[in-house]
Amino acid sequence: MRSFQHTANPARVIFGAGTLSQLPDEIGRLGLSRVLVLATPEQEAGAQSLAGKLGARAAGVFSGARMHTPEETTEQAMAKAAEIRADGLVAVGGGSTTGLAKAIALRTNLPQIVAPTTYAGSEMTPILGETRAGKKTTLTSPKVLPEVVIYDVELTLSLPVAISVASGMNAIAHAVEALYARETNPIVSMMAEEAIAAMARSLPTIAKDPKEMEARGEALYAAWLAGVCLGSVGMALHHKLCHTLGGLFGLPHAETHAAVLPHALAYNAPAAPEAIARINRALGPRNAPSALFELAKSLAAKMALRDLGMPDDGVDRTVELALTNPYWNPRPLEREPLRTMLQNALEGRSP
Ligand code: NAD
Repeated sequence: MRSFQHTANPARVIFGAGTLSQLPDEIGRLGLSRVLVLATPEQEAGAQSLAGKLGARAAGVFSGARMHTPEETTEQAMAKAAEIRADGLVAVGGGSTTGLAKAIALRTNLPQIVAPTTYAGSEMTPILGETRAGKKTTLTSPKVLPEVVIYDVELTLSLPVAISVASGMNAIAHAVEALYARETNPIVSMMAEEAIAAMARSLPTIAKDPKEMEARGEALYAAWLAGVCLGSVGMALHHKLCHTLGGLFGLPHAETHAAVLPHALAYNAPAAPEAIARINRALGPRNAPSALFELAKSLAAKMALRDLGMPDDGVDRTVELALTNPYWNPRPLEREPLRTMLQNALEGRSP
């Protein structure tokens, strides 16, 4: 018998197809009457149309959400919220839009209703990454957890295949690292295994037919579970390396996760046999790191960090930074194996 602790983060979740139609009821349930609708510039049209449908309950739209939550953007959005006397936030978008809602909530305590349109999973975590003067810092606070999350599968149908694949692999990465996290427990492991299996099953169908509702539903369900995993336990080598690579070379978030994950898992595999057994159950009894590599590659994900913008001489700088900011990992961080692993990821070789 194993002893463990599990802390569940509070959240009201509504899941299904067409569930965004329940937004007015949810706004009412929270006692709100003047929400600010948040979006990225690319998703502004949808935000405007949603605000139109909400009528007087929506006091305004801010569509300047950007990747990595720059503090200037948060300040602009807060100025807008103050100007229109917003009493709540509605975020419809991926991790960038959710991040903006969380950053505003941290500073104002405004309640948040989040409708995710990618598989990033941020809506389920008390984690917020923000960028100040080009430097990204991460904090954890229950204040950033959304009050309500509306998963509406229809919102994901427009997510382009390439972003769906990268974002889906990002979700799988949350689940994989949760399996060998220091604080992992049977509840988190059960969700992680289910998330990996459901995402790996659905992505090939989505790549062929991005409007296939069953597969989209399964992927969003997997993203939800993976987000819970990310929000419940600490992450290790894979997430820290992706963070370092993003900061050093400005690499795109989800795509970097897809390219690094097989290599980070290969590095940790010798020290994480139980995690490997679970991943094998989810993906089939193959070499787990190669299976993830083949899955992403078969879906046309870019598997060479070089193709995502990492310079050829970037391996040593990344390893140096990984070693100077040590963190818990199931296998100790060792310079030479890390170099080999990152060189493989740079070149897009199978792990
Ligand atoms: P994103 O939110 O930046 O979205 C990528 C692009 O896809 C954007 O242009 C967006 O407008 C567009 N898009 C999103 N959904 C769409 C849809 N359904 N149809 C058409 N276009 C759509 O990307 P992301 O990968 O979801 O989020 C990345 C950000 O989230 C990063 O800043 C990352 O650090 C953060 N993140 C945070 C956590 C956390 O727990 N704090 C977890 C995961 C990611």
